[in-house]
Amino acid sequence: MSKENKNIEMDKIISLAKRRGFVFPSSEIYGGFSAIYDYGPYGVELANNVKESWWKYMVRNREDIIGLDSSIFMNPKVWEASGHVQGFSDPLAECKKCHSRIRVDALLEDIGVQADEKMSEDEINKLFKENKDKLKCPKCGQKDFTESKSFNLLVKSNLGNFTGDWEQEPVYLRGETCQGIYINFKNILDSTRMKIPFGVAQIGKAFRNEITARQFIFRTREFEQMEMQYFVNPKDEMKEYKKLREYRWNFYLHLGINKKNLKWHQHENLVFYAKEAYDIEYNFPFGFKELEGLHARGDYDLTQHAKYSKQKLEYLDPYTNEKYIPHIIEASGGVGRTFLALLFEAYTEEKVDGDERIVLKLKPELAPIKIAVFPLLKNKPDLVNKAKEIFDNLKTKYMCEFDDNGNVGKRYRRQDEIGTPYCITVDFEGLDNQTVTVRDRDTMKQERVKIDELEEYFRNKFNG
Ligand code: ATP
Repeated sequence: MSKENKNIEMDKIISLAKRRGFVFPSSEIYGGFSAIYDYGPYGVELANNVKESWWKYMVRNREDIIGLDSSIFMNPKVWEASGHVQGFSDPLAECKKCHSRIRVDALLEDIGVQADEKMSEDEINKLFKENKDKLKCPKCGQKDFTESKSFNLLVKSNLGNFTGDWEQEPVYLRGETCQGIYINFKNILDSTRMKIPFGVAQIGKAFRNEITARQFIFRTREFEQMEMQYFVNPKDEMKEYKKLREYRWNFYLHLGINKKNLKWHQHENLVFYAKEAYDIEYNFPFGFKELEGLHARGDYDLTQHAKYSKQKLEYLDPYTNEKYIPHIIEASGGVGRTFLALLFEAYTEEKVDGDERIVLKLKPELAPIKIAVFPLLKNKPDLVNKAKEIFDNLKTKYMCEFDDNGNVGKRYRRQDEIGTPYCITVDFEGLDNQTVTVRDRDTMKQERVKIDELEEYFRNKFNG
């Protein structure tokens, strides 16, 4: 994958994702459910491969980072301490005619006024007031809006609340996974041998009541985050932050994303406790947008949780006896956004002998199916049995797929579209001399390989 992003339209990606079983709109048979998506049979494989790559890179590859899987529900005080109950909101205005509620920055964007995602709510409100005469309701076209109001993004639930008054005493579905890490800081110190600096990594679902969800799986109301919180001595915060930024940037290159399609965005409007904040952005067809945020958060998180829980969340350095509240630097990315970036990055249209082929040039490590196995003809038991035997052997090592539908050319095209790096075909010649053809997705070249050498052949291909 060394091409530049070629401005592939979103519709092509949405269509491929649906047609080939990567992403389905949720609850489609009931008319759908806005901004929620399901990952289909190939989507779940790709998403799992993204997560596995992340976990290998962040946890298994590092002695100083360990994993965690905290729950989605937490004591509601967590969200008071974190500031989310008070301040986790987006500005929203209501159309006075049709009563649609719309995010103010989205309305501004529609008239070409860039309300930068990192602007404060006050700044966005100011822009809203200045442009109010020009803003049009996207549903009914009317130009009459209420004042802008803050809309809290936390999703409420009635879990464990038997008083029935759950509007008054809500619990929340977590709005970010990292709070589960902060509140387990003490447990991790007490139960492991970790010494500062160390990190805790977690992959899991998060929920936000996004007002205007747009751009397919880029912004959804239920999504998955891959987060790593790194606890450091305050004096080392900025040094470690710089290292983490570089490490995380290299992760996207490691996934096969061309660096021309990646960009740093430095935040100008920092929240009061933050020292520095950068995003890694990807060149989506709708512009460079955030894939991951990297933040130097100071001692805010542990100080807040210490205050609200009345527990000591300090660290005693066993070598120097220095006692302090660790500072935190974080890397917070999204599975869905990485998945979408990879689809754009890998999507390729090529002309082959006058025909067009669509191929997903995913790195083999990420491809949903690594090897597809075909008998040349489905009605010849000898071919089918041999192909099944090869499939049964390889499936214990790689994610494989058996396919005997339609002609072989069509089967290749289908595998190209889902990004399968290798296709094995069992033909008559192979039955005679115990060989198969192996076709390479990118070069489309076929080579003949002895059946009893297939394992070694693929070991070299995938590990080489
Ligand atoms: P944005 O500004 O795009 O709303 P954010 O700055 O609020 O994102 P963070 O709170 O830093 O995002 O979350 C970390 C990561 O989680 C993001 O970089 C993104 O990959 C992912 N993420 C956040 N919100 C969503 C969402 N609604 N849908 C999909 N992924 C999301």
